[in-house]
Amino acid sequence: MLQQTQVKTVLPYFKKFTKKFPTLKSLSKSNEKQILKMWEGLGYYRRARNLYACSNQLINLYKGKLPKTLDEIKKLPGIGDYTGSALLGLVYDQPRIALDGNVKRVLARNLNKKEAKIDFKKLINFNSKMLFNNKRNADFVEALMEFGALICRPKDPKCVVCCLKKTCKYFKSSKKIRTTSKKMFKNKNYDIFCFLNKKKKQIALTKKNDFGFLKNFNLPMIKESKENDTRSWKLLNNYNNSISNLKLNINLYYKFSNKIPSEYSWHSLENKKEFIPSFTKNIFRQISNLF
Ligand code: SF4
Repeated sequence: MLQQTQVKTVLPYFKKFTKKFPTLKSLSKSNEKQILKMWEGLGYYRRARNLYACSNQLINLYKGKLPKTLDEIKKLPGIGDYTGSALLGLVYDQPRIALDGNVKRVLARNLNKKEAKIDFKKLINFNSKMLFNNKRNADFVEALMEFGALICRPKDPKCVVCCLKKTCKYFKSSKKIRTTSKKMFKNKNYDIFCFLNKKKKQIALTKKNDFGFLKNFNLPMIKESKENDTRSWKLLNNYNNSISNLKLNINLYYKFSNKIPSEYSWHSLENKKEFIPSFTKNIFRQISNLF
């Protein structure tokens, strides 16, 4: 849940989620629909799908136990180098560092270098004796991440109270290097076309879409704005929707029609039981004003 998401946003979701699924087994016995519903509003829904798939594989293939090697753990859905290292460090106390944005910043600042100019794996291997010379690697992994979040913060690091200030090159240097480059936002233009059933207050949606982050979720027709023929559609709104590092400029079109393409099916705008990503909810909110 914490990937790309702040702790304060995650906390209420985490509490609700772990109450509902207190064990790996209970999670694996659930279903994707239920899990997505609980994840609603948190975004990056692939995480929820992977978590569910992962719980199943752990129960069925590993008797509910986490594998102990990075190669094996990386075979699980959604687990890469970062999550794998974090798990092995936190769960099995292995000498590993989970290289998230916070940790990279701490290391880069100590060297007063740009992150892009550092080979972090090499750096950690080279300094492994110094880094892993305690018996509490799990705490060390956690502490490094927390240190980046609370002390060596992205903006306004707390150097005055920092225990590393005596050796930190960033603190000592008169020429402080900005460790990361600014996040670049990509602008994308999309046309969204909604078939609406006036009598039943319904919208036609399809899972057959390859709309990046919402691939295989129920969506109206979405096309990149190039030269779409919009003559038979009415423009409802033009708005922006930012997702991750994408700035979407959206033209929202609609038409009342009982005929829809075969891959589409009708959905109520008022269905509160089904999982609906906020991107789609935003469309629903605007459309509902038409009825
Ligand atoms: S002295 Fe400042 S820049 Fe250096 S590690 Fe501490 S908080 Fe970060």
